[in-house]
Order: sequence, then C-alpha cells, then structure tokens
Amino acid sequence: MSATAALHAIDSVLIVDDSGVQRSIGAALCREMRIRQIHQAEDGVAALALLDALPAPPDLLIVDLEMPNMDGPELLSELSARRLRSPVIVASSRESSLRHSVEDMGTALGLRILGSLPKPLTQEGLGTLLQRQPGTTPAREPRSTPPVDPQELRSALERGDITAFYHPQVEIGTCKVRGLEALARWHHPTRGWIPPDAFIPVAEQHGLIHVLTLRVMDLAMAQTAQWALQGLDLSIAVNISPLLLDRGELVQEISDLQRKHGLRAEQVVLEVTESTLLRELAVALGVLTRLRLRGFRLSLDDYGTGFSSMQQLARIPFTELKIDRSFVHGAADRESLQVILRSALDMASELGLETVAEGVESLQDWQLVRQFGCTLAQGWLLAKAMSPTDFEPWLQRLRQHRAELLG
Ligand code: C2E
Ligand code: MG
Ligand code: MG
Repeated sequence: MSATAALHAIDSVLIVDDSGVQRSIGAALCREMRIRQIHQAEDGVAALALLDALPAPPDLLIVDLEMPNMDGPELLSELSARRLRSPVIVASSRESSLRHSVEDMGTALGLRILGSLPKPLTQEGLGTLLQRQPGTTPAREPRSTPPVDPQELRSALERGDITAFYHPQVEIGTCKVRGLEALARWHHPTRGWIPPDAFIPVAEQHGLIHVLTLRVMDLAMAQTAQWALQGLDLSIAVNISPLLLDRGELVQEISDLQRKHGLRAEQVVLEVTESTLLRELAVALGVLTRLRLRGFRLSLDDYGTGFSSMQQLARIPFTELKIDRSFVHGAADRESLQVILRSALDMASELGLETVAEGVESLQDWQLVRQFGCTLAQGWLLAKAMSPTDFEPWLQRLRQHRAELLG
C-alpha cells in the first residue's frame, strides 16, 4: 500500500512544533501526501487553543517533544483529558529510547499513538506509521472481557468446560519442537472462548485454582502421553499459581498425575510466576525443592515483570528462565530492551538455566533472540496456542519454514 493510499482517510493534520523550519518540512510532506487542511501550532498551549477553535479535531496530530510553555508529554496528558480520538505521531530529534517512553506514556493514557519518528520527518517514515494500527505499543493491553461470575466458573469446572490449548516451544538452534505449554481456556456456552486472564484471577480469589490446575494438568499430561504414542517425545509445561505453593500435598498430587499418565518427571515443566505473594515462604520453598528432587523441571515465568525475581532466582532451584514478552517483542528496535534481554540471557546461561523467549512475534524478534543465544522460542511467529488436533498439521507447516528460520 502506498503512503498516499494509506492516507485516504486523513484530510486534516495538526503539526505542533516550536521550530518553524520543522513545521514547514512537515507541512510540505503532508501536502505531498495530499492532506488538504494543514494546521500548525508552536507549542502545546497554542495547539489546545486551536483545537478548541476548530469545528472538529484534525484526523492526525504530529507532536514535537521539546517545546516552551507546554511540552510534548504535557500536551499528551491534556489531549488524553480531552479524550482525543485522533491518531497521534510523536516527533523528536532526541534519542529513540526517549521517544519510545513518550509513546508508551501516550498509549497508557488511552491515546491512539501510531508511533514516533526522528526529525526531520521523511515521507517514508510518515508513510510507514500511517499504515499501522494504533495502540500496539504497550507490553500488556488490557482486555475488555466482561467480568466472570465465580459460581459460573465453578459449574464450568464441574461440567468440564475448562480445557487446555497448547502453545509450542521451539528450539532456536534446530527449529525442532521441544514441547508445549498448556494454557487454560474456557468454552462458554454463550460467550464462546474466554481467555485465561479473565478467569484465572477469579479462580484464585474464590478457591477454585487448585481444582482448575489439576484439571489442566490432567488434560495436558494425557495429551502428552497421547503424542508419545504417536512417536512424539515432548515436554509439557503447566502454569502453577503461587497461591498453590502453600499446599504441601501439591507435590504428591503432581507426582500421582505424572505416574498415572506414564510420563517421565523431566518431561513436566512447572511454570511459576515470580511473585512477592509467596505467603508461606518456607512451605513454598519446600514444595518447589521437593518437586525438583523428584525430577520435575521448574521455570521462572514472566521474568522481569515481578519485583523479587533476583531473590527468587537465588533461592529456588529453577531449571529455566522464561523471559516476559514485554522484553522480547520489538526489542530489535529498542536498544534499552536489548540490553535487558541480553543481560537476562547471559545471566541465565551463567546459572546453567535454559531460556525461553516468550512473545516472538516477528522474524526480527526470532533473529534477535537467536543472536543472543536463547534456547527456546514461544510466540505468534511460530504459532498461537492451539487445540491438540491442530498440532500435527502445524508441525508439517513448521518443517516447511525451517530453512527460512535457520537461514
Ligand atoms: P503465561 O503463562 O505467561 O502464558 C503465555 C501467554 O502469552 C499466553 O497467553 C500466550 O498465548 C501468550 N503469548 C505467547 N506468545 C505470544 C506472542 O508472541 N504474542 C502475544 N501477544 N502473546 C503471546 P494466554 O493463553 O492468554 O495466557 C495468559 C496467562 O494466563 C498465562 O500467561 C498464565 O499466566 C495464565 N494461565 C493460563 N493458563 C493457566 C493455568 O492453567 N493456570 C494458571 N495458574 N494460569 C494460567
Ligand atoms: Mg506460563
Ligand atoms: Mg509467561
């Protein structure tokens, strides 16, 4: 799609910049892109006055960061307070990390930030951003799923409406599938598939997380045993809520399921999110240590998003570090993320841990984690979480992409 075509819906723009030269460059580009109404303001105060005077907000705003009176970030806060719906582009000659922080700030404020560009603006840069869907910057986008009724969740568990989807984990060096992560899914009779973020917290608050976890684990282990019968030797990862770690019985419950399905303990990976909520630290440490003694693998999930990750790494016998997707996806464009990602991977390798990069969504993400020596990748570039029946056809397709991924 050409930049001009992408712009067909954009008839008016407001360029906010204290430099007359930069405003002229921007205006000339917009004219070339056939935007008819080009408004200009020299700072945030002038921009707000202009917005008040216009009959309707412009279709696009381009906002500089450093300006006298009211700077770019202040202007974004004001625009958010006025509930501006038009897309916004951040423009600045300052370092890209600063621009990215302002993008994240704007998105967190609810603005439709398309992205940021260095100055002087170019037609290519502007064209690329205008083809983007706004609001894809933040690490976690809040989901707008309606609240879940605990009583309904309880019945769903009893009826077997909670099931597991599987997300493959691929060895970066060989492109072979090492295993899968089981992810809970709720198939609701009227609402369709409900994502786990909507019901796991409810399960945790209403004493249902134990039943739910054992249900997912039972399904996941049965499925792994099934795949083994088809000649596929795979590991299976299951998420363990930190709330479960004060149950001493958990060790035996997991062992019983593993034996029931005839799996080897080392095939089973228990993913624990880093958490300050280990209510009974001694009990939790005991549970995790005993699980490890029995041969289960332990993975520190969502690494980097919690508050006490280093402390937990030091005292829990983890075998794997799973780096949160907010440090992975898009890191190729962000130097600060690269530094964090690389140092986490280096540290894990020094500690003798395997590493999983979550959120590998693009070929760029894949190439970066590969270059940084990460062991496993999990992400939408490879697959979304799937039902068991979709796994074998997907394996065939992965084989076809091997050369490209290893190239
Ligand atoms: P998690 O354990 O960190 O699982 C990874 C989540 O990231 C999954 O979302 C997965 O689909 C998603 N993901 C992986 N790669 C990508 C990617 O490239 N892009 C994007 N945008 N997302 C990616 P899902 O299935 O929605 O699960 C969300 C969270 O719900 C899980 O995060 C986990 O914390 C929780 N959860 C899921 N199943 C269970 C369960 O059985 N028990 C417990 N306690 N928690 C569960
Ligand atoms: Mg997980
Ligand atoms: Mg995770």
